[in-house]
Amino acid sequence: MSFDDLLQANRAYAEHFPHGGFDGKARRGVLMVTCMDSRIDPLDLIGLGHGDAKILRSPGGQVSESMLNGCILGVHLLGVERIMVVPHTKCAMASGTDANIRQVIAERSGLDTTWVSFGATPDQVNRLGEDVAKIRNHPLLKDRCEVGGFMYDVDSGLLEQLL
Ligand SMILES: [Zn+2]
Repeated sequence: MSFDDLLQANRAYAEHFPHGGFDGKARRGVLMVTCMDSRIDPLDLIGLGHGDAKILRSPGGQVSESMLNGCILGVHLLGVERIMVVPHTKCAMASGTDANIRQVIAERSGLDTTWVSFGATPDQVNRLGEDVAKIRNHPLLKDRCEVGGFMYDVDSGLLEQLL
């Protein structure tokens, strides 16, 4: 396994690269926190393109300390005015608990992951509420931006606002 195919694709990409000299601001003032799931194309699903938004991704789209830092930087330095927290249907991080995930990894690899905290929870909507509250109540973000909690349906492509 190597990265040759990807580097080759990059050369083709760079040959007609139209975005040189572009600043790093979120042109449409949007920041999205979402899952690492490969079924999600964050910009496409809200009709945005290159340079329009900041995208922060994690397993399950859960809001970590590092993600909060990203929100602070986005709001205070990079033009972010609206923050969307977007978990999705059929998320592996919502299909069970950390114990379930650890068991699957152990069965597949024999490795012990009890020392890793994945943060999986079947109560996805409750998690979303906590994550939205973390951003809304943060002393450096409070009243500085709009925050919405959504659910993305990976089968229909529809995004629904829940909070
Ligand atoms: Zn997911």
